[in-house]
Amino acid sequence: MTAALEIKGLTKTYGDNVAVDHVHLTVPQGSFYGLVGQNGAGKTTTLSMAVGLLRPDAGTASIFGADVWAEPARAKQLVGVLPDGMAMPERLTGREVLTYLGLLRGLSKEVVAGRTEELLSVLELDSAEKTLVIEYSTGMRKKIGLATALLHAPRLLVLDEPFEAVDPVSAATIKTILREFVAGGGSIVLSSHVMALVEQLCDHVGVIDRGRVAAAGTLDEVRGAATLEDRFVELVGAATTATKGLSWL
Ligand code: ATP
Repeated sequence: MTAALEIKGLTKTYGDNVAVDHVHLTVPQGSFYGLVGQNGAGKTTTLSMAVGLLRPDAGTASIFGADVWAEPARAKQLVGVLPDGMAMPERLTGREVLTYLGLLRGLSKEVVAGRTEELLSVLELDSAEKTLVIEYSTGMRKKIGLATALLHAPRLLVLDEPFEAVDPVSAATIKTILREFVAGGGSIVLSSHVMALVEQLCDHVGVIDRGRVAAAGTLDEVRGAATLEDRFVELVGAATTATKGLSWL
């Protein structure tokens, strides 16, 4: 079966810094895939290249078999993306943003209106009817970003830190939406620093360490008999150095 997302040898270098170093990852159809790694490990750079937002120095990415650089229109039709620090039309309300992006996506006015209404309601953004996106809190921005990713009913969602700065009630709502999306046959890749969240939601996991894949597979294959957190610390070799220094504190 064609993978939902197939990454082969993706590489990106900034000056002397190899941010992503020949990364290979396969996200099977119908899987809920968690990408974990320390700050600066290369998760955002990998996901940005995987969805066609950042041109790689080498390697390829394909979404349900569509190469994101050779067939961008077909690939982008199949994927909904929540990028890190997403730039949005800020002087519009949430409803206006969804309407604008939905029409740009080629959806009919009626479909856009119906889906916008439902998304704003489910994500509890409908009370912010007259609020411009520029006035949104960080968590509200994540939620409207997620709504824009869902609007065209993609088959794959690629979400960079979807739960960052989101309150627990909204997080529970988002988890339910994502689980239902997967239960309905969709595939998801998300990045997170929170191991407990990945363990709770995901059935596959990839560990990125200094631009390379340190481990990848099903959750059980990667964590073995340990918790994901213990396995992660073991893999990235992050011995606790916190007790060295700070003696003045
Ligand atoms: P975090 O968890 O902190 O978001 P990350 O795993 O998403 O980190 P990236 O943002 O992909 O990591 O960064 C990987 C490396 O690439 C880091 O060393 C970062 O400094 C570098 N980097 C990322 N974007 C740029 C850029 N535009 N210019 C120069 N270096 C960059």
